[in-house]
Amino acid sequence: MTTIDIQYVKGVGEKRAKLLEKLGIFTVEDAVRYYPRAYLDFANCKPIAALVPGETACVRAVVGTELFGAQIRKGLTIWRSVLTDGAGTMHLIIFNNRFLAERLKQGETYLFYGKVTENYGTLEMNNPLVEEDCENAGFLPVYPLTAGISRLQLSRIIQNALKLWLQEEHAELLPEAVRHDYSLCRERYALTRIHAPVSLEEVQIARRRLIFEELFVLQCGMALLRVQGRQRSAFCVDTAFAAEFLEQLPFTLTGAQNRAVADCLRDLSGAWVMNRLIQGDVGSGKTVVAAALLYTMAKNGLQSALMAPTEILARQHYETLQKILGGSVRVVLLTGGLTAREKRVAKAALKSGEAAVAVGTHALLTGDVEFSALSLVVTDEQHRFGVRQRSTLSEKGRAPHVLVMSATPIPRTLSLMIYGDLDISVIDELPGGRKKILTYAVDSSYHPRVYAFLRKHLDTGLQGYVVCPAVEESESELLSAVEYAKELSAKEFSAYRVGLLHGKMKPKEKAAIMEAFAAGEIRLLVSTTVIEVGIDVPNAAVMVIENAERFGLSQLHQLRGRVGRGSAQSYCILISDAQGESAKARLEMMTKTNDGFAVAEFDLKQRGPGDFFGSRQHGLPELKIADLLEDMDTLQQAKHAALDVLAGDRRLEHPEHRALRQAVKQLFSQNGETSLN
Ligand code: ADP
Ligand code: MG
Repeated sequence: MTTIDIQYVKGVGEKRAKLLEKLGIFTVEDAVRYYPRAYLDFANCKPIAALVPGETACVRAVVGTELFGAQIRKGLTIWRSVLTDGAGTMHLIIFNNRFLAERLKQGETYLFYGKVTENYGTLEMNNPLVEEDCENAGFLPVYPLTAGISRLQLSRIIQNALKLWLQEEHAELLPEAVRHDYSLCRERYALTRIHAPVSLEEVQIARRRLIFEELFVLQCGMALLRVQGRQRSAFCVDTAFAAEFLEQLPFTLTGAQNRAVADCLRDLSGAWVMNRLIQGDVGSGKTVVAAALLYTMAKNGLQSALMAPTEILARQHYETLQKILGGSVRVVLLTGGLTAREKRVAKAALKSGEAAVAVGTHALLTGDVEFSALSLVVTDEQHRFGVRQRSTLSEKGRAPHVLVMSATPIPRTLSLMIYGDLDISVIDELPGGRKKILTYAVDSSYHPRVYAFLRKHLDTGLQGYVVCPAVEESESELLSAVEYAKELSAKEFSAYRVGLLHGKMKPKEKAAIMEAFAAGEIRLLVSTTVIEVGIDVPNAAVMVIENAERFGLSQLHQLRGRVGRGSAQSYCILISDAQGESAKARLEMMTKTNDGFAVAEFDLKQRGPGDFFGSRQHGLPELKIADLLEDMDTLQQAKHAALDVLAGDRRLEHPEHRALRQAVKQLFSQNGETSLN
């Protein structure tokens, strides 16, 4: 019943069903689980005079002037008016919504709901939600919408779907004991009230239940993945080889690196398959830890794969490994940028077992890449890969060991919970002799001085980076980097070889540029954020970041980590003309600390986890209502509850956990595939 196609719900039909699909609503169940992102609380309208820029508010106001529309360019029409509530006025701006603009009549009162912004000292609301001013407008849910469906229409559709849903019996997904222990309302109550509450209190009760439920399902899934990962190891590994590898390195490992290596070796020689995350700030030396394991496996006659998120990084790992693994271990590179012939050679070497180590990108995941004895899978910068991709690679071997390396510093409490399926080693120490990267934030009037500073360093033989930000349209990002590089090499840096690196270049071109930079031929590299991940050129000592306010803090930290890798004092100069308080505070934070965990924590607080964990970078299933950070306490509770339940039913096989098991499978499935079995 609940898997009923949304198309058959009253008020939908074929055409609207297509629109609903865009919102991820395919069935009645999906509609019922399409939660409001906010509520219009018309009892709490704010006077315009009391509004603060940045807040989202409801205002009851009169449309003061006739709406004036102007076509700015093709595809962009803007209507303007002034709203007034007697004591205050603000501007109303409507983009490309003729329907709304024509609905609003001068002199009439409406309810406006939206984000308040400030533009040259005047408050404005852009594309607010608008309701006729009916006196008994109460507490209305606001849903994320898509073009073609209004708030009211979507509300009605969801109400109709809910009616259908309520006609059915549904097994409670939360075990009774859990519901009781954590004082959670029933699912029926939660779903009814989340869509049609009469008070804030009801919203809270319903939300608490649904958030708990979602995190509980997540934690159950993590725990199951862990059980699944707990396979008996099929390999007998002699770990003594690691010592011989470490001895021939030109440096000694830090204490933290040694601990990580020891953790891994213990895993590799144990009875169970390794499932480990190594978390270490940029520059903490994760690669060499992985290399110790690759070497050990190779000496045992076993194969390993190292997967990196970008072509550049894969190439760099390939070169590093070729150097440090020595002549006795054959390493092959497998990326999309190779010629068909090169790929064929690499694949053959893996299939026959001649090559002990495969380094590559997603290309390693394709079906025709076969190994003769894949026993260890390492993924670098794992937040870019999903849980699913990790397991695809693992399936190419017989229960291979899994090591994940991440440079995204996530507060430890959180990582323990979201990487519930992995054991964790933290490398919280930088190799000795590193100097702190000195970071400065300046405005663009400093450009001449910054260039002079850069030239001074280039003249001593060091190298530098200039990073241009991702601006809204990808085209202009490209343009800005290309033009900037041209300008710099024609003027301020005409005496030096300036290179350019951006995401639209062919892999071969990128690799050539990186090689020339690593070899010191290119002295100054102008780049977009493609250098963000993992690039290691110790001779680069100065990084200039243009329009620094456009980057997230964690991203700035990652970028900054490209310098400070050698013995010279390194510098990071953040250039920004942003006036906003929060932008200034962020850049100031960068100047104060080099500690990735501190930066991450500040970033999380300031931006909120939505952005931080945005775009599914962490590879976790997408959550509908819970928020990993805001709901951290609930996450903790849900984890305990999940462990309790699983203690009695390790694989969720008891009949009373059927609904739960189903929900877990669904949450962890992508494109119809599930990584749980
Ligand atoms: P990340 O953790 O960011 O991936 P890398 O593995 O790229 O860091 O290491 C950064 C640099 O530090 C590399 O040039 C590497 O050779 C060097 N390095 C790693 N460990 C040590 C160490 N214990 N002592 C000195 N240099 C080291
Ligand atoms: Mg790295």
